[in-house]
Amino acid sequence: MNIHEYQAKEILASFGVAIPRGKVAKTPAEAEEIAVELDADLYVVKAQIHAGGRGKGGGVKLAKNPTEVKTHAEEILGMQLVTHQTGPEGKLVRKVLVAEASEIENELYLGMVIDRGTSRITLMASQEGGVDIEKVAAETPDKIIKQTVDPTVGLQDFQARQLAFGLNLSAELIRPTTKLISNLYQTFVACDCSLVEINPLAIVAGKEGSEIIALDSKINFDDNALYRQTKIEALRDEHEEDARELEAKASGLSYISLDGNIGCMVNGAGLAMSTMDVIKLHGGEPANFLDVGGSATTEAVAHAFRLILSDSKVEAVLVNIFGGIMKCDTIANGILEAVKQVNLNVPLVVRLEGTNVELGRQILSQSSLDLITADSLSDAAEKTVRAISA
Ligand code: ADP
Ligand code: MG
Repeated sequence: MNIHEYQAKEILASFGVAIPRGKVAKTPAEAEEIAVELDADLYVVKAQIHAGGRGKGGGVKLAKNPTEVKTHAEEILGMQLVTHQTGPEGKLVRKVLVAEASEIENELYLGMVIDRGTSRITLMASQEGGVDIEKVAAETPDKIIKQTVDPTVGLQDFQARQLAFGLNLSAELIRPTTKLISNLYQTFVACDCSLVEINPLAIVAGKEGSEIIALDSKINFDDNALYRQTKIEALRDEHEEDARELEAKASGLSYISLDGNIGCMVNGAGLAMSTMDVIKLHGGEPANFLDVGGSATTEAVAHAFRLILSDSKVEAVLVNIFGGIMKCDTIANGILEAVKQVNLNVPLVVRLEGTNVELGRQILSQSSLDLITADSLSDAAEKTVRAISA
């Protein structure tokens, strides 16, 4: 699950990470009021969407006074903000963060992820902050320094210090930066995060010399831990989430939207993963991951089918079911039920195997449904890819 920058900053602040003073607004008038309250020398108005790259897209603007804050909020609220992370359609801005603008001396990067390679939390830091970190990683990977945390002992002080030294900070900033890194690690563990990113982690001019502060922040959470993170679950912004994924979740289906054009209906997460792999092997691109579960009913199958077909990207559907607990005749009836409800106007390839397979095939072949049958997963993927290019 993702949250907005302003929410991520509130969480970080509660763990002792320094952030600029600020508040979120839904209207220009509210934005102006917040600015008056903040009473700062300079302000920043920031679009709150679940995507980065807002600065370059025109979603982050500096303002000299509350009136200018209001003007910028008028421009940003309601805009369809396009960044390299939103896709060409952009995202509608419904909220802005109004914060005190800092006098930036240097922009750094600090991130923390679960590294699947080592199965451990890995911290990353770079002097090349403020910019696209993926680009730094691809072009100049030596500019990113890393520390891997041993879960039995947690993040060690020397590791935080090594990162701070690696950022080439001045002596007086080493201690606060080490503390900040340690606070970030506490946040990561306590909130079951899967990613915490501060970009930029900025060195700014403070009243008594330079300070280190989180000017931006992004947090992703492990969905499987949300059951014990009720406060975090409450931060969910449904406007920002994929409508089909929400619908699927509500009806107990495991569904993830992807970018391709082959709709997949599969039972079992492992079979769904291998179906996606084999589609790719044959040169196709899956439009979704969908696991209808091991014991789905006719209604659930029909629902899953409607969900797949409601995606305009879908140019063909591949049904790959291995009937175990779930019987092939249930799937066949589910498909027929769904097709009655929605207009099937793309090729449909079906591969059934397992319990009651003969009955399932019979139900489908006796129907008036125009479908392509396949004998194996590879055959099914190949036929689906061919049906699209035909
Ligand atoms: P995004 O990553 O979506 O582009 P950021 O929050 O990183 O959004 O903002 C982009 C840039 O705007 C930052 O790199 C920084 O230069 C500037 N900026 C953001 N917040 C502040 C702030 N409070 N004070 C001064 N400059 C800021
Ligand atoms: Mg940023």
